[in-house]
Amino acid sequence: MYKVTLIPGDGTGPEITEAVRRVLEATGVSFEWEIQNAGEDVYHQEGNPLPDRVLESIKRNKVALKGPITTPVGTGFRSVNVTLRQALDLYSCLRPCKSYAGARTKYSNIDIVIVRENTEDLYAGIEYQKDSEGAKAIIDLVKNISGNTIRSDSGISIKPISVFGSERIVRFAFEYARKNKRRKVTSVHKANIMKYSDGLFLEVSREVAKKYPDIEFEDKIIDNMCMQLVQKPELYDVLVLPNLYGDIVSDLAAGLIGGLGLAPGANLGSEYAVFEATHGSAPKYKGLNKVNPFAMMLSGVMMLRYLGETTAAENLDNAIASTIKEGKYVTYDMKPSPDDPTAATTSGVADAIVSKITRQ
Ligand code: NAD
Repeated sequence: MYKVTLIPGDGTGPEITEAVRRVLEATGVSFEWEIQNAGEDVYHQEGNPLPDRVLESIKRNKVALKGPITTPVGTGFRSVNVTLRQALDLYSCLRPCKSYAGARTKYSNIDIVIVRENTEDLYAGIEYQKDSEGAKAIIDLVKNISGNTIRSDSGISIKPISVFGSERIVRFAFEYARKNKRRKVTSVHKANIMKYSDGLFLEVSREVAKKYPDIEFEDKIIDNMCMQLVQKPELYDVLVLPNLYGDIVSDLAAGLIGGLGLAPGANLGSEYAVFEATHGSAPKYKGLNKVNPFAMMLSGVMMLRYLGETTAAENLDNAIASTIKEGKYVTYDMKPSPDDPTAATTSGVADAIVSKITRQ
């Protein structure tokens, strides 16, 4: 029996987490779910979108399965997702993007693993609003120490990238590559322009790479990387990236395999693990029982593997793969046209997977 914190999230989160809970239970592995709400509604009810009880539950159980949570754009509360990763020091975001036969995409045989740094960079949350005391102080400081002028009507976001943060994420990428028999790690950066932040990430990547002579290493500038991924994705294997580039390239890689509905993820630290899809809360579909639960189900597969439940993980992965291949019980985004009347519902997909697993 595994005790796992279950965060349904908001928007379409509760529908897809329910679908995942059902298929995980169908594998025969026993779970006791500790349900913890967080997000927009909790913010309105409790004044905090991520109450301490949620973090305490994850600290107790060490493992969580999490639905997506909405972040207001521009104003409002800070991202619960980012805060959670920072508060639990879930420094590594692991996002495998693998082709499933039958998924509608221009590409085949994609097998790329994104390793995104999860705690630093422009995501650190160190920001100063236009005209604030902080923004004014930084503008003065920069003027004094470097003579550079920042326009007085600027908002400012700080981009810290440390040796400590870079070293542990690059090491994680190489260890993952070694353990999973991958051939190459590509470090992605913009070190030609941001010499002291991305430059440091690259320098540390090169140092760490020397300790893994069995794995090929290369680096790529982020803009070139994006083009290469679209043109020749088969050349790439494990990518390690600072936080923001990792976020953007994750969606790009999801596009290669047929969309966000198929891209799972895990946020991992040295003590805790939180499994969640790459996609967000898709709020326009909230309550419609419509969105694709596969990305969250595949995050569930990752959780089973993390727990050492390899057979259950294989069974669930196989059931998902064969359902995608058959193309019948799949949601609108995986049909030839988004208004295909034969599209399955979120819960309909879960029904199909449950019956497949229990027949296996
Ligand atoms: P999104 O991922 O929710 O949606 C992007 C597009 O993909 C939309 O067209 C959406 O309908 C579609 N989509 C997403 N998931 C899908 C699924 N399972 N099945 C079918 N289609 C799916 O991204 P967004 O619209 O930029 O963000 C919506 C909200 O989610 C924002 O508040 C954002 O901050 C938040 N968000 C949360 C997380 C997280 O919880 N980790 C991650 C990304 C975005």
